[in-house]
Amino acid sequence: MASSFKFAPLATSSSSSAGAKSAARSGVDRLYAMLERGNVVVLTGAGISTDSGIPDYRSPTGSYSVGHKPMLHSEFVSSEANRKRYWLRSMFGYGAFQASQPNDGHRAISELQRRGIVDSVITQNVDRLHQKAGSESVLEIHGHLSSVGCLSCGANHDRAEYQDLLRTQNAEWVKHHLQLSIDDLDFADIRADGDANIAHDDLTDFSVPACSVCKQGVLKPNVVFFGGSLDPSIREAALKRVTEPNVNSLLVVGSSLSTWSALRLARAAKDQGKDLGILNIGPTRADDIADFLCPENITKALQDAILPLCSSRA
Ligand SMILES: [Zn+2]
Repeated sequence: MASSFKFAPLATSSSSSAGAKSAARSGVDRLYAMLERGNVVVLTGAGISTDSGIPDYRSPTGSYSVGHKPMLHSEFVSSEANRKRYWLRSMFGYGAFQASQPNDGHRAISELQRRGIVDSVITQNVDRLHQKAGSESVLEIHGHLSSVGCLSCGANHDRAEYQDLLRTQNAEWVKHHLQLSIDDLDFADIRADGDANIAHDDLTDFSVPACSVCKQGVLKPNVVFFGGSLDPSIREAALKRVTEPNVNSLLVVGSSLSTWSALRLARAAKDQGKDLGILNIGPTRADDIADFLCPENITKALQDAILPLCSSRA
């Protein structure tokens, strides 16, 4: 697998191999020690993608902090009006979301996986940036935004093709109601879950294309909305990954572990005697059981931690 990762030069000598030998207690040094042992499973959340221009949920500039209320599963499936609101915002946010690129944090994890230090990656993110960075076998516990599924017949449809349908069928609506051209869809103000901050109340004539296979089914993005349930097979696969006998550690990156589906993985790892490290700015729900906290900039901390590691194993 090709890797485009380029190691940034060290700003200081503190994270050279001498840093590890001194067994300093800083979060980055603990992170380095965890990675040096190898057999690490990484669990990522929205915080790793903020340097790619996708806001997270709970930081001071995150989606929640600026008043965003994510669509609940029950709201989406029970109300056509809610689905119209969702798809309007998603239609505007999709272009910027799809165009986002992985950052050095994603690339660092991919490099660690390529070198056999990271066993596998589990992510709560729906942005596919780990895969764009070269990571393999990424387990997406909350799904992804690359396809939409029919709630009636189960058919899956490519999200990009669905975007074309949305655009075609709503070009006049956008022009009339928002005084925008349909070509102005690359809206900058996207949210953590890929939609945009568009407020418009009169959605009566907004068109939401139905499933082209069964001609009537409601289409839903293949993501787990808040209040929705994880696919049981995905849930079990994630649990299996973090509790495998050969796994030494679980490293949480950029997640406050606010959802039960993520928190239970941290608890399961600890219950099985794994080390738990948390690289996240701000508190998480597993701080009390973590072996160390590393409240640093994620991208920089990963770079600082892996540079001596990869040098010694090159
Ligand atoms: Zn269908």
